[in-house]
Order: sequence, then C-alpha cells, then structure tokens
Amino acid sequence: MECDRATGLLSPLVDSALGPIARWQVRRHVAGCDACAEKLEELRAMRAAIRTKLIFHRAPPGLAARIGAALPREAPPEASRPWFRLPVFSFGGTGLVGALAGVALTVLVMSGQGMGGGHSEAMQAVIGSHIRSLQAEHLTDVLTSDQHTVKPWLSARLDVSPPVLELKDQGFPLVGGRQDYVDGHPTAVVVYRHAKHVINLLAWASPGAANEPPRDESRQGFNVVTWRRNGITYYAVSDVEADQLAEFAKLVAQAT
Ligand SMILES: [Zn+2]
Repeated sequence: MECDRATGLLSPLVDSALGPIARWQVRRHVAGCDACAEKLEELRAMRAAIRTKLIFHRAPPGLAARIGAALPREAPPEASRPWFRLPVFSFGGTGLVGALAGVALTVLVMSGQGMGGGHSEAMQAVIGSHIRSLQAEHLTDVLTSDQHTVKPWLSARLDVSPPVLELKDQGFPLVGGRQDYVDGHPTAVVVYRHAKHVINLLAWASPGAANEPPRDESRQGFNVVTWRRNGITYYAVSDVEADQLAEFAKLVAQAT
C-alpha cells in the first residue's frame, strides 16, 4: 500500500470505519512507515482531546450570547441558515455563533460514536487478530494437539492462563497456541478447529472487572462469543456457524 492511499484511510481507521482487510493493510503500512505512523498518532491524539477535553469543558452559560452581542449584527445568508432552530441562534444570529454551534454539534456527534466504543474497538481488534492468524501463516507459535504442552507454553509467557481443553470428541480438536497483542492487551490465544474452520480463543487479563455471561455477536461475517470471568476477558471468534461457536464457547466457559 502506498503512502497516499494509506493517508486517506487513516481517518476511517481511527473511526473504526474500515473493513478488516483494509484495516489490516493500513496497519501493516503504518507499522513500516514513520510518516504515516506520525499522522495516525496525531489523529488519535486529536480524537482523544476532543473526547476528553471539549466534552468536560463546556462553554459557560451566556458565552454564546456575549459573543453574539459583541459582534456586529448581520443576518446569515439564507442558504447557510440551518434548517433546525436551536436557542443559540436567537443570540445575535451571526455567522460566528452559527459556526460555534456547528463545532458543538460535531463534538456531540463524535462523542456519541464513542459510546460503547471500547467494546466495539475490542471486537474489531479481535476480528483483526483472527484474520491475521489466517492470512499471515501465523496461526500458532506452538503447534500441538497436546493440551499439556500448550498450557505451560502460554503460562510461561503471559499473565493469563486460559483453559486449554481436549475437545476432539466434541468436534473441536486443539490445534495449538500463540501469543498476540490485541486492543492493547498481551493476549493468550488457544487455537481450535471445527471441521475446516479455525476457532481462535483469545484471553487477556482484566483485573477487577465484573464477570459477564457469554454473549453472541456477529460482525463482518465472523461470529464472536465474549464473556468475562475471574478477571479474564475471553473472545471466541470464527467463521463457523453461530450455534456451533456458541456450543464451543459453552464448553470452554464451563472451565473458566
Ligand atoms: Zn506511509
């Protein structure tokens, strides 16, 4: 991917508006390109500033009125007059006040997208990890169907110890394990198969977080079941049918 194209996709990347493949391609480019990495960092910082600062430092009451009163009165051109009527437009009705209101609206809309964004971003990252594992020939670091090899291998490298089960008789043979870094978390991944499908079971530490029962979700053609138990967050992700993944997740969740 060229810089020009990557640059154009940075903003959608930050907005979680890219599909998994484009997202992976942009990230791969950014990983090897200092200029784009810097631009991405700037975008993220700007977004974070908008979320954390502007929201909590609201304009004091009456500011819009004072700005409106201080500016010469002029009616905005008909075409630029917004179709909606907010009280702020009655304060002088200048173009600047309108522009300020526009900024405020933009901030509100952007913060609205951010609600529940933590979960959404984690889902994107989980699916990204699944796709990388299929594309990059990096499905496993330790390739074995022996659970007594996989579990100590993961325990030795990560601070989470997900259950590594022998589920061959239930139709989910163990393939191996790998370590990954997903949504900012060092992540243990246990890899299973169901027929020709790969199931990645991701686990990362969430110390102190409340338990949450398994929950199904479908996104971008992948099924995901997520739950949290005893300070560990789990994601099972695959393109197997939702009911089969739910069955798999039930078996694993029993052991967590
Ligand atoms: Zn670049």
